[in-house]
Amino acid sequence: MEWWVSMPKIELHAHLNGSIRNSTLLYALIHTPLFWELARVLGEKGVIVFSDVEHVIKKNDRSLGEVFKLFDLIHILTTDHKTVTRITKEVVEDFASENVVYLELRTTPKKNDSIGMSKQSYMEAVIEGLRAVTAVDIDFVPHKFNTQDSLNTIAMNDACDGTRRKKTYVRLLLSIDRRETTEAAIETVKLALEMRGLGVVGIDLSGNPDVGEWNTFLPALKFAQEQGLYITLHCGEVPNRQEVQPMLDFLPQRIGHAIFFEEEEWRQLKTSKIPVEICLTSNIKTESISSIDIHHFVDLYNAKHPLVLCTDDAGVFSTSLSNEYKLASTAFGLGKREMFELARNGIEFIFAGDEVKQYLVGAFDSAAKKLN
Ligand code: 5GP
Repeated sequence: MEWWVSMPKIELHAHLNGSIRNSTLLYALIHTPLFWELARVLGEKGVIVFSDVEHVIKKNDRSLGEVFKLFDLIHILTTDHKTVTRITKEVVEDFASENVVYLELRTTPKKNDSIGMSKQSYMEAVIEGLRAVTAVDIDFVPHKFNTQDSLNTIAMNDACDGTRRKKTYVRLLLSIDRRETTEAAIETVKLALEMRGLGVVGIDLSGNPDVGEWNTFLPALKFAQEQGLYITLHCGEVPNRQEVQPMLDFLPQRIGHAIFFEEEEWRQLKTSKIPVEICLTSNIKTESISSIDIHHFVDLYNAKHPLVLCTDDAGVFSTSLSNEYKLASTAFGLGKREMFELARNGIEFIFAGDEVKQYLVGAFDSAAKKLN
């Protein structure tokens, strides 16, 4: 097994629906009545050329604007309780299979009255997906909320067959979509607070960066901050002088992307030491950055700024966390040990307590002994 696959890794920026498997997306597509209706309207009399459909879904390079159109399509296909549960289970298993030992998964709770879905029932479907994971043991309930009833699987499986199984920590972030109103954003924060005992640890602000205004989300984000939820913001994905500085002034625990910063904003970022979630493939495929050679990873890495490599949307961008490590290693000339240290440094920026951090330090320490 290649070192970038076998080494332990920490994933802190992964959107649930963006991490969907192609096969699951295709399955959802052909099982959607709307799809067949569309085919009929297009004059294909219900006959679909599968490879054509596959091509559209697997299309590689899309601008940031096109990506958000694709998300609207994905959401039409995946927003029902059963599919949300299935995607959650698969996404967690996929990350675990490439030795992700700690995963923070984010998703936008969705409401759809026509199918009886509330933001809460959407999230319950996510939790059901976590409970359905069988390939590995997962730990998603923070220790202080752990009761007999919600005890995680690790102990049970160890007791069953006496062998140690792989364990992955999973924590959830609820995303506020930039299309949402202040009230809808506050509803998401309240839901996050109610679901703290089920692994929800924080709030993310995401969605099309050309839509919405910072002031719309600020009341909800302030409320979340006051209540002790962790916060990460998509920041500087497009040039927006009105936003980047207020976002940095807000002092979120992390930010994602940080691409279009002015000189003064870089300075502020570096002084603040706010960790940055770096998504190389996503930035290149959405053409937010024209070439990997000029990616700001290099400047931040050389400045020893806190960084963590992430996938963003492993399904949509056809990548994996292992692939991101391999890419960084090749593109920036970093060796196995430097990449290992980079991954290990991520422990500091996770939205979980000391107990989890200690476990992860142990996992990295034992993996370090095998690194040659
Ligand atoms: P979901 O929240 O539905 O599980 O995951 C997909 C959603 O995450 C998208 O609709 C979008 O709101 C958000 N998202 C995924 N990738 C990106 C990205 O690269 N930038 C931003 N700003 N939002 C994203």
